[in-house]
Amino acid sequence: MDTRRTTRALATEAVHAGRDDLAGLGLHAPPIDLSTTYPSYDSRAEAARIDAFATTGAEPDGPPVYGRLGNPTVARFETALARLEGTESAVAFASGMAALSAVLLVRGSMGLRHVVAVRPLYGCSDHLLTAGLLGSEVTWTDPAGVADALRPDTGLVLVESPANPTLAEIDLRAVAHACGSVPLLVDNTFATPVLQRPAEHGARLVLHSATKYLGGHGDVLAGVVACDEEFAGRLRQVRFATGGVLHPLAGYLLLRGLSTLPVRVRAASANAAELVARLAADPRVARVHYPAVGGAMVSFEVHGDPHEVIAGVRLITPAVSLGSVDSLIQHPASISHRIVDADDRRDAGVSDRLLRLSVGLEDVEDLWADLDSALGERAGTPARREELARG
Ligand SMILES: *Cc1c(COP(=O)(O)O)cnc(C)c1O
Repeated sequence: MDTRRTTRALATEAVHAGRDDLAGLGLHAPPIDLSTTYPSYDSRAEAARIDAFATTGAEPDGPPVYGRLGNPTVARFETALARLEGTESAVAFASGMAALSAVLLVRGSMGLRHVVAVRPLYGCSDHLLTAGLLGSEVTWTDPAGVADALRPDTGLVLVESPANPTLAEIDLRAVAHACGSVPLLVDNTFATPVLQRPAEHGARLVLHSATKYLGGHGDVLAGVVACDEEFAGRLRQVRFATGGVLHPLAGYLLLRGLSTLPVRVRAASANAAELVARLAADPRVARVHYPAVGGAMVSFEVHGDPHEVIAGVRLITPAVSLGSVDSLIQHPASISHRIVDADDRRDAGVSDRLLRLSVGLEDVEDLWADLDSALGERAGTPARREELARG
């Protein structure tokens, strides 16, 4: 009897999933397949394979057909991410926004154009829905209002938890219950499957901007949806028809990024927790936001001018995006959420004084020294303002 364990822990999957066949191929590192097309001398068989794809969207059996139908290197990343999220399948795209667009197109093509969504969302996700760029119509609500907001033509419920940029959290199990038979999409970019696997709580679709933690090094733009195979088939058909495919080299870099995801997330989260404690105790800081699930994202509101903090960092990079090995800071009201209407932004809790910090793997003392000096001499603190008022 074979007594080996049949399930593998997340840390093990991170370095082995999507690579199970390598030893049999006599390889150790995954190959990068850059072919856009593949030879076939049997066009009758090819026709049957294309018909099968048009019916189910399942990856064609046997050799690949054409780069827009699927790529073996990208498929390795998809397999690995599905294992980490605990879903049957995953479908990768050229960016997080391409992934979200494909989901909206799948549902819209079924006549289910209405979307229920909870703010805040990543600024461009908010914009895509608000502007109705893909013909969808959105109802914004809070988590408790989801059930009442559903209509017969509702095709999707969309939430982020922790949310970008306030790190507000949602009870995923309760929202999934409120959705009934409508698919719940959870944007899991901030938590990553290391800290939270929304499918376990009833989400049918788990979306990542893989540009962030999954890639992890600030050098890949990508998106992915983890879901059941039925929905994955529809996503592949939309990807085939609209062309938002991921480049194979990006697929390779993402697979490589996944292998260090658990250690990166844990180490950066430890740094973040220490910075949260110091920021919370600092009189120059009005409010600190940090989710119960943990993670390496921290948001905080300053008493002084947030633009001065951005201008003052030297080690931390003042830039949009997040989830890299090095720390990044940005002002959501100016950059990541600029495209959202100012009143909607403020209603969603994105204050003009809010700064969003993506904590990296630097030594925490160096990070604190940089933040401490960027926060400035006590300028702008309540104590300093009182001193100034007293003259
Ligand atoms: C960045 C981001 C996106 C968009 O992803 P891209 O890869 O930039 O297209 C979507 N959701 C969240 C939470 C993000 O942070």
